[in-house]
Amino acid sequence: MAVRTAAKLDSAGYIALHEQYGARNYHPLDVVISRAQGVWVYDVEGRRYLDCLAAYSAVNQGHCHPRIYQALVEQAQKVTLTSRAFHNEQLPLLCKEACELLGYERFLPMNSGAEGVETALKLARKWAYVKKGVPADQAEIIVFAENFHGRTITIISFSTEEQYRAGFGPFTPGFRIVPFGDLEAVERAITPNTAAVLVEPVQGEGGVIVPPKGYLRRLAELCAQHNVLFIADEIQTGLGRTGKLLACEHEGVHPDVLIIGKALSGGYYPVSAVLSSRDILDVFEPGDHGSTFGGNPLAAAVAREALKVLVEEGMIENAAVQGAYLKERLQAIRSPHVKEVRGLGLLIGIELYPSAGGARRFCEALKDNGVLCKDTRRHIIRVTPPLVITREEVDWAVERFEKVLTSL
Ligand SMILES: *Cc1c(COP(=O)(O)O)cnc(C)c1O
Repeated sequence: MAVRTAAKLDSAGYIALHEQYGARNYHPLDVVISRAQGVWVYDVEGRRYLDCLAAYSAVNQGHCHPRIYQALVEQAQKVTLTSRAFHNEQLPLLCKEACELLGYERFLPMNSGAEGVETALKLARKWAYVKKGVPADQAEIIVFAENFHGRTITIISFSTEEQYRAGFGPFTPGFRIVPFGDLEAVERAITPNTAAVLVEPVQGEGGVIVPPKGYLRRLAELCAQHNVLFIADEIQTGLGRTGKLLACEHEGVHPDVLIIGKALSGGYYPVSAVLSSRDILDVFEPGDHGSTFGGNPLAAAVAREALKVLVEEGMIENAAVQGAYLKERLQAIRSPHVKEVRGLGLLIGIELYPSAGGARRFCEALKDNGVLCKDTRRHIIRVTPPLVITREEVDWAVERFEKVLTSL
């Protein structure tokens, strides 16, 4: 039996193959990418596109960053996987460097973002029983409407997006959902059994929702008052995306528990992590939690370099500068379809009026003009290019946005 398909196909050929054999859980744009560098990606016909999605913020450092590539290749030639049954010479260095950079005492590595969130939820529950004295199996975790934290059964159990849940019950209990941005609702939801509040500093998938000024700071204060863990899911907002290393820094907040992922590997490899204090993370004892691939030396070497280039190459400052400029230029576009342009740093959303007929057709038109974007929550175009974008590239993109938003 032939395992390989011999001939090189064109875009339509690859799309047809996927339609025939691939599972149908995504609805991608009709573009087949074969290579990429920095902010640019190229399809199999050689057409060039400016990537304004950056793999949902996993390639903040730009595609195929040469220094991360070098770290990957060097480590791949030495040892890639030891499992956590043994130590390896990369993970301890990643733990130290990430803790020092982000201001934490302990680091727990996982792979996907959803696993990072699951880890934080398990941590919060065990902390509540061991440290706070919540009666067995009574711990509650407060979450927010329109949240996005991943796709496991437990995580979709507290999603408010109907499609994420429909057909997947029964669901995990123990979560209370309150409106995002409403402090009093959180205060009312806190009980003696509340273990934690889990929050995205800016809701990404939810439509790039930036909370009111002061909200995160007061939310963190409320948590401290009630002995409730403040857990920040910075998988999308973290690592420079909003113009700060962490989005919580905009309000001077230091989360009790921090979850990062996506750009932690610069797009080379799935790496996520939970960071916290010794006091909190030490409720986990050997055997409580784990992952075969979590913390492997290849992942750790890649993540170490991904963090270094982010800081050393000024990407975080660039996100602040280019983000402010891009938002201002998008806000200046006069289009009958645009309700609002909002965001923080290079996490920007263009919300369209319902009369615009959905964001998807705009994303398709943008693609035909050389810009790749992805719609979210039906009416919102998310604009999140790699953090290495230059002012000239912002200008180039804005011209295309203007054309599409004023001609459809
Ligand atoms: C993408 C994302 C996740 C899930 O990450 P995966 O790697 O897809 O499992 C969780 N939380 C937030 C805020 C995200 O943006």
